[in-house]
Amino acid sequence: MGRHSAPVVMSTSRKITTAAAAAGAVFGAGQLFATATAAADTTGGFGAVPPELEAMLPAGFELPQIALPEVQLPQVQLPEGPAAPVISWPAAPQDVIGGAIASTYQPVKGTLTSGYGPRWGSHHGGVDIAAPIGTEIRSAASGTVINAGAANGYGLWVQILHDDGTVATYGHIDSYTVVKGQTVAAGDRIATVGNRGQSTGPHLHFEVWDPSASKIDPISWLQARGVNPDWAVSA
Ligand SMILES: [Zn+2]
Repeated sequence: MGRHSAPVVMSTSRKITTAAAAAGAVFGAGQLFATATAAADTTGGFGAVPPELEAMLPAGFELPQIALPEVQLPQVQLPEGPAAPVISWPAAPQDVIGGAIASTYQPVKGTLTSGYGPRWGSHHGGVDIAAPIGTEIRSAASGTVINAGAANGYGLWVQILHDDGTVATYGHIDSYTVVKGQTVAAGDRIATVGNRGQSTGPHLHFEVWDPSASKIDPISWLQARGVNPDWAVSA
């Protein structure tokens, strides 16, 4: 049985006494609460004491002042994580010509849609080889990556400086897997065909710059190095 049903079996006088005691307790609790409130927060920041607990305290009882110690959080210095790994696809199996590893590689499979030279009243400084987006592009020769990233007009490009001072440029690529300063071998996968920048469809725009940065005919450059591209030619 709960205590709230207890008065049912009590005598009248007992009930009155109980009620008076209860009223006194409530009054006392009110006083105590007022005192506690006037003395600002004496609960150490834990909020008001529950009334039923306060009623048990003698009148005028001062709650102890609880001062929580200031906690200084330790300064945690996180260790530097390992440098992001440089993704490098495995090199393609090298073409073997006459028992020697080829020094020059056809950079992409696809269809030659625009040759080097005059085009639409201007000069086309490279060749366009159409291929589906994502088609792998391989470095035409060994060398050092001198640019890999965004470039005006090219969308994204990769440029590789070769030992003879020429620079191969791969434009409108969708992605690249080399970083500036990296050395590559002929036939290494370096990028994928895309359609970024001033491009009218997925293709590789392939240029070769001579050491004075003049754009030369990439097909002549490849042929001089023993590679005859198997690109189909479209009108
Ligand atoms: Zn082009």
